[in-house]
Amino acid sequence: MQFYSTNNPKHKVSLKEAVIRGLAPDQGLYMPERIPVLPASFFERISEMSFKEIGYEVIGKLFGEELGEEQVMKLVDHTLNFDAPLVKVSEGIYSLELFHGPTLAFKDFGARFCSKLMSILMEGEERKVKVLVATSGDTGSAVANGFYKVPGVEVIILYPKGKVSELQEMQFTTLGENINCLEVEGVFDDCQWLVKEAFLDKELNEKILLTSANSINIARWIPQCLYYFYAWSRLPEKDKKLAISVPSGNFGNLGAGILAERMGLPIDVFVASTNINKIVPDFLHGLDFKAKPSISTISNSMDVGNPSNFYRLLALYGNDEALFRKKVKGFYFDDEDTAKAMKKVMEETGYILDPHGAVGYLGLRNFLKMNPGEYVGIFLETAHPGKFKSVVDKVLGIELELPDRLKEFMKGEKNAKGLPNDYGAFRAYLSNSIL
Ligand SMILES: *Cc1c(COP(=O)(O)O)cnc(C)c1O
Repeated sequence: MQFYSTNNPKHKVSLKEAVIRGLAPDQGLYMPERIPVLPASFFERISEMSFKEIGYEVIGKLFGEELGEEQVMKLVDHTLNFDAPLVKVSEGIYSLELFHGPTLAFKDFGARFCSKLMSILMEGEERKVKVLVATSGDTGSAVANGFYKVPGVEVIILYPKGKVSELQEMQFTTLGENINCLEVEGVFDDCQWLVKEAFLDKELNEKILLTSANSINIARWIPQCLYYFYAWSRLPEKDKKLAISVPSGNFGNLGAGILAERMGLPIDVFVASTNINKIVPDFLHGLDFKAKPSISTISNSMDVGNPSNFYRLLALYGNDEALFRKKVKGFYFDDEDTAKAMKKVMEETGYILDPHGAVGYLGLRNFLKMNPGEYVGIFLETAHPGKFKSVVDKVLGIELELPDRLKEFMKGEKNAKGLPNDYGAFRAYLSNSIL
């Protein structure tokens, strides 16, 4: 299997090149050159298969040729070492809980897969690969924990000083080993700018192997399709049509669901649920796709004004905008709607939503109301409510107990270097650090 760039389908590269590069040189997104379809026999057996067994088959279809069966199993075993239970919230509505990994958010799936795949692809290479990550919080923790102690890979995390929560900061700055943290005198956009400059620096890239681990990278994006298959395998009501709602920011997660559907998974409708950063719902309602500055909300991991996976979604529908608009329904909600939904669901069912899952729930509820009785619905619960404790406590008027895994991070010691918001200083750091 080769991978093409969405900006030029003739530009094709190997799996290794696509993963190590992250973004194509023409700034396009890499896509598998063909979408393999799983046989009917797979879907007949799926209810009896474990999460890992499902993973072996799906990843085998995509990466088996390059990696071989043994490496595929290693990769899947490493990634899927925690569950993703499907929990019934109310009649016809299920929550797919994706927050049972080490940093309690769905990004753990992609980060774990990405780190393991990079180390497999770098085996036998003398050079180490340096992974650069700019983060406003959640990506940093998932990537740091996913890559922790992975041989052959050094991680450099840039984050804005004083602009991430203490809990988030402790999740990546306390690890040490191959995880290096830079506290930048600036905002998130400055961190992202520094990383971009480094990728564009030809001379630097000849000396050191730099890559990225954001959801642009196929190694983070593709494995997210696995939990869609798993959710369907555990769904009791398979006789109804299925709608899946995905709370979205950069739209990697939703794109992975569409990939699963293109591989044969019977999902009838996707619901693209966002906060007021509603570029994609606007597109789905007929407007042109147009990036905008992002607006802050209580579901802050989805505050994205320029969703980077948009053209990947379009490519999955053969660049057919009409088909895209037919299969994906867009909804958006403001903070007040989100808070109301969190309250209502807790009062009526006892289930505690985090602000992102609440946006997904709302999109699903709205879609189901417009199509009564026809569908069973799943929304993705992308983070543990404890990760957004201050918002959840305030909205629900409760004192949420933090999970032990989060408390553990708070015991560690913060280790980060200060960095001025200056590319020269960052370049010197990258050139001088003998990693
Ligand atoms: C990153 C994130 C999202 C958005 O996912 P995308 O793949 O960027 O659309 C949603 N919820 C949480 C909790 C996240 O961390």
